[in-house]
Amino acid sequence: MIKQIINNYNWNFDNTLLENAQKVYDSLEKDFKRIDEIYYSNQFKVISAMQSLGLSEHHFIGSTGYGYGDSGREFFDELLAKVLGTESAIARHQWVSGTHTIFSGLATLLNPKDTLVSITGRPYDTLAKIIGLSEDAPENCLISKGINYKEVPLNNSGRPDLNNIEKQLQKLKPSVVFIQKSRGYSSRKTLTYYELSKLVDFVRKVTPNSKIFLDNCYGEFVETSEPGELDIDLMAGSFIKNPGGGLAPCGGYLAGKRESVEKASFELTAPGLGRDMGATPEGYHRLFIQGLYLAPSTVCSAAKGAIFSSAFFQNLGYEVSPTPKENRGDIIQEINLNTKENLISFVKGIQKAGVVDSHIELEPDQMPGYDHPVIMAAGTFVQGGSLELSADAPVRPPYKAYLQGGLTFPHVILGNLIAAQKIIT
Ligand SMILES: *Cc1c(COP(=O)(O)O)cnc(C)c1O
Repeated sequence: MIKQIINNYNWNFDNTLLENAQKVYDSLEKDFKRIDEIYYSNQFKVISAMQSLGLSEHHFIGSTGYGYGDSGREFFDELLAKVLGTESAIARHQWVSGTHTIFSGLATLLNPKDTLVSITGRPYDTLAKIIGLSEDAPENCLISKGINYKEVPLNNSGRPDLNNIEKQLQKLKPSVVFIQKSRGYSSRKTLTYYELSKLVDFVRKVTPNSKIFLDNCYGEFVETSEPGELDIDLMAGSFIKNPGGGLAPCGGYLAGKRESVEKASFELTAPGLGRDMGATPEGYHRLFIQGLYLAPSTVCSAAKGAIFSSAFFQNLGYEVSPTPKENRGDIIQEINLNTKENLISFVKGIQKAGVVDSHIELEPDQMPGYDHPVIMAAGTFVQGGSLELSADAPVRPPYKAYLQGGLTFPHVILGNLIAAQKIIT
């Protein structure tokens, strides 16, 4: 099927490559079915939430100035809380990225002299700066505000090290325990909902007074349950990832217990102002709400794409994580390309497969927030939108690429073919 259809166009793929792709595709029928079941479950969840909260056309109208009485903003906050399973949520285009949202959340929960402990090892690259872990830590990072930071490394298999976590939490009695669900761009394992539920129970038993903060980036709609259903105080995500469905133009959310979310609203705007202010440009509400409506479908395309990529590159002889049959808790696929040349060809291939800027020849470069040269393919409608087909790779041994996204599944198949073709030629 793939071979006949794709040969109608002028990509000129190697025949064996197309035959491999077809074989891999056919072998994954059961896995795709498993993803479809998750998709249906999440799609019905979102539709039911929209109906029960009474979505109406007036919710799409924007606001100006202080943004008082912005009914679309209030509706979307409630909708998101319902879908994520939390008591409360704030979703705003004013948060410039996931990192910004996470910083607001941590700043909400932490006071000077408090201790923050990450129990999932070193957090995502861009968080090193907001915490103050890098040498060039910026002013106003958490450590410079007098917050103590400790982390408990993951164990050798890339999972939370429960013995050490217990010891450290008992000793440090932290105000905030930080958990990252997704693997991010690292070789650790992503926590599934089930693993996360065990971990949250464990933390609650060891230090019942600590607040729990979850970095939920890349996790939404990959499983049928959301971590918001667990006993978590505050969690953060980005709308240019999963919950934006590819339509949301920017922004992030904080969701969790009412008390913590209310407090976070003063960090978002200003003490005394809170969540009832902040104008929304005309047209934005529809993009966010329709984006959330589409998110279960686009995340499902991305998840199928990740499974296909995993199997396709495994079949070509590369080490992959997760493997095609492993349970997934996010949309990221790690592919170990072994050499610098392969890595760069791969990411260039993904760029070439994009619909925006597909003619651009990428080169590795230094990026703000990262400590080493990186190469990123993001031929996306939304700048840096990584629910869209994209790839990121630090250019350093062992030369692993991180592939994610795909608003449509066929596009991810095409991306894999172009990347593989670029490697072999
Ligand atoms: C994407 C991501 C973030 C935030 O990154 P931004 O680029 O600022 O949106 C944080 N943590 C994880 C695990 C992520 O994947």
